[in-house]
Amino acid sequence: MKKISIVIPAYNEEGNVALIYQKIKEVFDGLRKYDFEIIFVNDGSRDNTQQKLEELSQHCDKVKFIEFSRNFGHQPAVKAGMDNAHGNAVISMDGDLQHPPELIPKMIEKWEEGYDVVFTMRAYPKQISLFKRKTSDLFYKILSRLSDVNLTQGGGSDFRLLDSNVVEVMRKFNEDDLFLRGLTSWTGFKQTGINFTASERASGQSSYDLKKMITFAFTGISAFSVKPLYIAAYLGFLFSVFSVIGYGIYVIHSIIAKTEISGWASLIMTIVFFGGLQLIMLGIMGIYLGKVFKQVKERPNYIIKNKNF
Ligand code: UDP
Ligand code: MG
Repeated sequence: MKKISIVIPAYNEEGNVALIYQKIKEVFDGLRKYDFEIIFVNDGSRDNTQQKLEELSQHCDKVKFIEFSRNFGHQPAVKAGMDNAHGNAVISMDGDLQHPPELIPKMIEKWEEGYDVVFTMRAYPKQISLFKRKTSDLFYKILSRLSDVNLTQGGGSDFRLLDSNVVEVMRKFNEDDLFLRGLTSWTGFKQTGINFTASERASGQSSYDLKKMITFAFTGISAFSVKPLYIAAYLGFLFSVFSVIGYGIYVIHSIIAKTEISGWASLIMTIVFFGGLQLIMLGIMGIYLGKVFKQVKERPNYIIKNKNF
C-alpha cells in the first residue's frame, strides 16, 4: 500500500489542528487504496498547539509531531517535515485550512499519472484584501523576470505534492535561506499544477504581515538570481558614460558661449542622485554578502526539541 505523508507547519494553530486532522482523515476514508501519516511541525508556538498535538497523537497513531526548540519560520518547518517523512509522496499544506484537504485526491491522481511535482495555483477569494492579492501577483512577476526559476502566477502556494524522489533531492539542500517553491521548480522534475481557491483562516491570525512578506520576497529573489548584482554594474557603467558625455557637452558649451559652468542646484541634485544610487547598490551587495555570511556558518535550518516517532 502506498503511503502519503502530509506535512503541516503549525505556529499558534491550537484552534485548527484537531479540525484539519478530522478533514484529512475524512479524505483518506474515501481513499482506501492509500495509507497516510500526518506530520505536524510545531514551529515554536506560543499557545497550546503542542498540548493539542500530544492529545491528538495519543488518540490516533497516524498523527506525528515534531516540536522545534523555538520559532524557526514556515519554510524550515516544511523542510523538517519533509526530512522526516516516510511516504511515497509528501504533501505540504498550511495548518489553518486555507489549503482545502478536499484537493488531495486530485493531487494523488496527478501523481499516479506520473507527475513528480503537483503544485497548486491559488486564486484568492474576494474576502482576501486586494492589497495582498496584488502584492503577491507582483512578487511572482518580478521573481520570474529576475531569476531563472519560472513560477506560475500564484504558483506560490506551499500546498504541494512531491514524489519521494524529489523529497530525496530536497533533503540534500542545505541552503540557509530556504525558498522551497523556487527549489522544487528548479529541480526540473515533471510538474503540473491544479487550481484552487484559498479560503479564509479557520481560526487564529495570519502571521505573514507586510514586513515578513517583503523579507520573503527578497529571500526569493536573492536565492535564485544574481541579476540584481549585474543591474548594479550595468547602471554604474551607464551613468559613468552619461556623466562623461554630459561633462563634455558643458565644457564645449562654456567655451563656445564664453560663459562659466553654473548651477549649484543641478550640482547638488546630481550628488544626491548618485549618493542614493550608490546606497541602493551597496544595499544589494549587502544582501548577498549577508547570505554568504549566513551560509558559511552552516547552521542548521531548525532544531528539533522533541518528536514522537
Ligand atoms: N507558520 C509557521 N511558522 C511561522 C509562521 C507560520 O509554521 O513562523 C505556519 C502557520 O501555522 C500556517 C502556515 O505556516 O500553517 C501559513 O501561515 P499563515 O497562515 O500565517 O500565512 P498566510 O496563509 O497568511 O500566508
Ligand atoms: Mg494562512
